[in-house]
Amino acid sequence: MKRYIIPVFIPHYGCTHQCIFCNQRKITGLDRPVSPEQVSAAIAEHLAMITAPRLIEVAFYGGSFTALPADIQQALLAPAYAALQQGKIQAIRVSTRPDCINAEIVTAVCRYGVTTIELGVQSLDDDVLRTAGRGHTARQVAAAVAVIRGMGVKCGIQLMPGLPGETMLSLIATACRTVKLKPDFVRIYPAVVIAGTQLAVLYSRGLYRPLTLPQAVRQAGYLKLLFERNGIKVIRTGLQATAELADQQVVLAGPYHPSFGEMADSFIFHLMVSRCLEQLDCTDSEIFICHHSRDTSKIRGLKNANLNRWRQEYSLRAITLAVDDELPLNAIAMIHQTNRYFINKSMLTSL
Ligand code: SF4
Repeated sequence: MKRYIIPVFIPHYGCTHQCIFCNQRKITGLDRPVSPEQVSAAIAEHLAMITAPRLIEVAFYGGSFTALPADIQQALLAPAYAALQQGKIQAIRVSTRPDCINAEIVTAVCRYGVTTIELGVQSLDDDVLRTAGRGHTARQVAAAVAVIRGMGVKCGIQLMPGLPGETMLSLIATACRTVKLKPDFVRIYPAVVIAGTQLAVLYSRGLYRPLTLPQAVRQAGYLKLLFERNGIKVIRTGLQATAELADQQVVLAGPYHPSFGEMADSFIFHLMVSRCLEQLDCTDSEIFICHHSRDTSKIRGLKNANLNRWRQEYSLRAITLAVDDELPLNAIAMIHQTNRYFINKSMLTSL
C-alpha cells in the first residue's frame, strides 16, 4: 500500500545549533513553531483529503524534535498519538539531531507511538561537520544510530553532499561509514545556498563554491547505488520541489532542481547501460532496451541525454526502447544481435 505523509514542520524548534546551510523558515515559508492545536488541525485536514487506502504517517520535520523540553514533545505528539490509537493513522516519525538521542529520550517518544527517528547527519567527516557548525561529531552519530536501532526503532540518516571542505574522498568515507552504521534508510540532499544562511555569506564572498548540478547528480547517483547495493533504502534524493525553493530569492545557488531525484536515477541507468556497452562491440549496430514502462523517462534522461550519449560514445546506429512490464523496476534487458543481457543495479556487469 502506498504511504501518505502528513508533514508537520517545526522550523528550527529545539535546535541547539545554527547549521551554516540551514534556514528552515525560508524553505518551509513558516516562521513560528507549531502548536498542538495546529498539529490536530493538520492531521484532520490531510485525513479529509485522502480518498484511497494509504499507510498514513505523521512526520515532524524541520527542527530538532527530541531537543525540545519533554512536555512540549509530549504535547505535540499527543494529537498524532490519539489519531494512531483511533486507527486514523498508522505511524509517527520525528527528525532530530544525533547529539539529542539517548535511551531515555527514545523510550519517551516511543511511548507516544514514534516508530521512526530520522537523524540529520549531513557528513561523517568531523572537519566537514565542524565547518558546517553542526555541533556534533561522527562518533555521536554512530552512538545515536546504535541506540535507536538497538531499541527496535527504525533509523533514517540524512546526508548532504557538497558542504564546505568536503572532498570526493571524504564523501566516499562518509558513504562507507554510513553503510557500516546500517541505517534503515537514507535521504540525500545535496547542499544548496539558501538566503539568510552563513553559507550564503561565504558564497557571496567567494569562499564557498557549491557543487554544479551535474556533479551533484553524479555524487547522489553513486551514493544511491552504493546504499542500495548494501540493502539500505534511499527514500529521497534532492529537496522536495516547493514554491519557496523555486524562488531565486530563496535558493541563491547550488544544485537545486525540481527533478533532481529523477536525474540521479537517470545517471544510474546511464552507468548500467554504459557498463554493458563497454563489454560489447556495438559499433554501427542497433540495441534494444527493454524496461518497465515506469522507467522510460529515467532511461531516456533529461531531454534524451542518455540516449544521445550512448549513441555517440558507442557509435550505435540506433537505440530502440521497448516496454516490458514483466521486468522489475530499475532493471533492463538489453538485446544486441541475438543476445539478451539482463542488468540491474546490483549486477552492473552481468552479461
Ligand atoms: S540542520 Fe537541523 S539542527 Fe541544523 S539548524 Fe537546521 S533544523 Fe536545526
